[in-house]
Amino acid sequence: MSELSDFLQQRAQQGLLRRLIPAERRDKGLRYCQGEEPVIDFSSNDYLGFSHHPRIKAAMKEAIDRFGVGSSASRLLSGDLSIFHELEQKVSRLKKKEGALIFNSGYQANVGILSALYKKGDVFFSDKINHASIIDGMRLSGADFFRFRHNDIDHLEQLLKLKRADFKQALIITETIFSMDGDKPDLNRLVKLKEKYDCLLFVDEAHATGIFGRDGAGVVEELGLTEKVDFIMGTFSKALGSFGAYLAASAETVDYLINQSRGFIYSTALPPALIAADIAALSCLKDEPDRRRVLLANADYLRNRLKSIGLETLGESQIVPIVIGDSAKAVSISEELAKRRFWVCPIRPPTVPANSARLRVSLSYDHGRDTIDKFVEEINKLV
Ligand SMILES: *Cc1c(COP(=O)(O)O)cnc(C)c1O
Repeated sequence: MSELSDFLQQRAQQGLLRRLIPAERRDKGLRYCQGEEPVIDFSSNDYLGFSHHPRIKAAMKEAIDRFGVGSSASRLLSGDLSIFHELEQKVSRLKKKEGALIFNSGYQANVGILSALYKKGDVFFSDKINHASIIDGMRLSGADFFRFRHNDIDHLEQLLKLKRADFKQALIITETIFSMDGDKPDLNRLVKLKEKYDCLLFVDEAHATGIFGRDGAGVVEELGLTEKVDFIMGTFSKALGSFGAYLAASAETVDYLINQSRGFIYSTALPPALIAADIAALSCLKDEPDRRRVLLANADYLRNRLKSIGLETLGESQIVPIVIGDSAKAVSISEELAKRRFWVCPIRPPTVPANSARLRVSLSYDHGRDTIDKFVEEINKLV
């Protein structure tokens, strides 16, 4: 298999080899590696600290005793349980959409939804930095797709003017909080364009669910655009602390996907205990709105502190990318930070544009102001 070893060698030479670095356990914003002091985990998506929330853990344990560990089949065979429908009702209520459908993961949702709803002769208009699962879903559908420059709505309009008329159905796709830049699209303008050019609008709220909006439903709720966005996808695997994903959309869309989405049809239903955890997480979201407020206030605080020591930050969310520029420098700062007990991953091209390597800090409710102050003090010594 010389092709494989050539590839791996080349990656290693370029300093781009991906490796797994296991911890013994994770808890309350910390990562514990064997024999070492725990490090502060600034790279997880456990934004609200729900992955170890006592109420959610208890709900999951109880569900194991009641339902066992697995679902035993796809929902269309014998895996369906009323607890799935209960979660779907809660999602559709939270998202104020007629229907909702649970998918096994966010990746599977995007691939399974986009490839089922669109086909050759249709077209997608997708933000350049949309998640890999969106790209894979578009590819698998067989439809054409055009990518507009990140958050560049003028560029999107140029593409719509040029290309829209050549296709049947058209879908505009964006994330509502971008995972690498921590920023938001101009959703109001996207809605105007979707109406003007006869498209539908799909949003991925993976990083916004649980954080934005009065009820924590996401950016669509925050902007009051629920009626205008046709497909609202999101996950339970980030702020909500466990696993699984959903689409909130029309009841007809849900019925269609149950019949046509291969990722939904041909995969065993999630373990019922996970569904119970997701239901408990939605209750916690309702009962503990302070978590998301504190988190966003702390993210603003971190941005301001970094700015005050002359560092450039991006975004407007709990994701705080610090632009370093040079890839090697980003890697070495990340390594030094690890020695000082901060776990912050460097994000390098081609994941981000050339010369914009960055350290991506994702904050959690578990990280207090004292932790943030200590981090700023340490990074100030390294840049
Ligand atoms: C993480 C992520 C996904 C995938 O969700 P999983 O549940 O982890 O599979 C999809 N879209 C975006 C924008 C994400 O950040």
